[in-house]
Amino acid sequence: MPVKLPFVLARRFVAAESLEGTLPVLRQLCAEGLYVTVDRLGEYVHDRQQALATRDAYLGLIDVLANERDAGRLRDANVSLKLSSLGQKIDEAFCLDNLHQLLEAARPRDVFIRLDMEGSDLTESTLRIFEQVYPDYPDHVGPVLQAYLKRTARDIARMCELKARVRLCKGAYKEPPEIAYQDMPTIRARFIEYMQRLLLEGRYPGIATHDDVLIEATKRFAAEHQIGSDRFEFQMLYGIRPETQRELVRQGYRMRVYVPYGTEWLPYFYRRLRERKENVWFVVKNLFRR
Ligand code: FAD
Repeated sequence: MPVKLPFVLARRFVAAESLEGTLPVLRQLCAEGLYVTVDRLGEYVHDRQQALATRDAYLGLIDVLANERDAGRLRDANVSLKLSSLGQKIDEAFCLDNLHQLLEAARPRDVFIRLDMEGSDLTESTLRIFEQVYPDYPDHVGPVLQAYLKRTARDIARMCELKARVRLCKGAYKEPPEIAYQDMPTIRARFIEYMQRLLLEGRYPGIATHDDVLIEATKRFAAEHQIGSDRFEFQMLYGIRPETQRELVRQGYRMRVYVPYGTEWLPYFYRRLRERKENVWFVVKNLFRR
């Protein structure tokens, strides 16, 4: 039987194991001027019933977030979703149908669904599914593109052509050198190039990074090209650089915090630890926090 690690380990990066426990976190972030996108943790689902349960949980989440926004407790309603949790690995048509049902619920409530980007085994399929739903829901769905993938130059051009709302990030999965840049200077250079193109030719991009080099490059480029702070947003993960998140809000930028919740937190937690050795230290300190 697999060992269940205690949630206390993950609480720096994961709001709570339940949606109920997550709501006070969301309200507090919004009260401090931050926007949120809420992710119900789960990925690589291989069982249809489990994928349907995920779909139903997201239907509930969409409803709750729209109600919270309408009651003035959130600035807007955004969710982040991994298609592999909706059955993408089982059958693409089944996953598409599940996503379609979510978008049918999201559109009338004006909830935006961000399709997180996962490992490279799913990139092509995720963008294919996105392009299938996008014409019917252009204001309510958007993909994520990863600067480390060599194919991304092409995908950025395509998303600019479609005027799709893109989140740009470096990329969090271990990918081979044939398809992904491995060194930080190249990944940063690609990120900056894509950020500039999205700001000039895209629609309301999300610039998702904790990296000061990239944040400063974005601010500078926006200022030089008179791109107002209402035409893009910065995005960071819950629990990472919280002071910087608030500082950017004070400077007049939009900042959206990615808030994950749920019991399936282990893969997400490992990715955060792998990214930065300091995160391991934060977790250890957290264990002794009251
Ligand atoms: P890093 O590469 O971790 O750090 C670079 C530099 O930033 C550091 O050298 C340091 O100068 C500074 N820095 C970073 N953290 C700190 C800190 N705690 N304190 C002080 N300085 C710090 N990846 C995907 O593959 N798919 C997705 O769908 C996806 N969605 C994301 C959504 C959001 C909102 C965010 C923020 C990230 C997402 N990611 C996703 C993860 C992303 O791809 C990166 O793995 C992750 O953000 C780490 O890269 P980074 O640019 O933030 O900075």
